[in-house]
Amino acid sequence: MSDWIWDGGRLCLDLVNTLRDRYREGRELLVAPDLLAEWLREVGLGTSAPTDEHVSTARELREAIDRAVHARAQGSPIAAPDVELINEVARGENPAIQLRVSSDGSVAAFRPAPQDPVSAALAAVAVDAIELLAAEPFPRVAVCAYHRCGLRFLDTSPARNRQWCSMARCGNRAKARQHYARRTGS
Ligand SMILES: [Zn+2]
Repeated sequence: MSDWIWDGGRLCLDLVNTLRDRYREGRELLVAPDLLAEWLREVGLGTSAPTDEHVSTARELREAIDRAVHARAQGSPIAAPDVELINEVARGENPAIQLRVSSDGSVAAFRPAPQDPVSAALAAVAVDAIELLAAEPFPRVAVCAYHRCGLRFLDTSPARNRQWCSMARCGNRAKARQHYARRTGS
């Protein structure tokens, strides 16, 4: 098991957080197809084996989402190539719902299985990003305040003042650090 973290509060932000340690140059967790497969399984989108190309797409989508969310949070325009990339992945390959009428006259809607289930899974992540980016007013997406973290999360706290990706992880580390600084007077 990789050290996945599920504190983003949104599927698309959990993807962004698969590049860990963004406070420095970043540490890649999606290093191979089987790790993308594991991540997709964990979020309930895993159905088949990704390829190296899927891994590249996932990483490109991830960085486009991160830049787009950052732009949105700043009130600046989202770069056109990022909009294009997110839209392209979102189009993915999601077969349209079809109407099926059986010989006994019963009627049902069904969605044919996609040819490329991994692209369909990545499309679901891109659609989640689109829904987040299009939200009006744009919610607070914060970067964890711990200086050695960098995780992104959707802040749904009542006062919109959540500081840590997780109290158990970074909140306690930050408190221990403050305590230590007080004791040593540094
Ligand atoms: Zn953190």
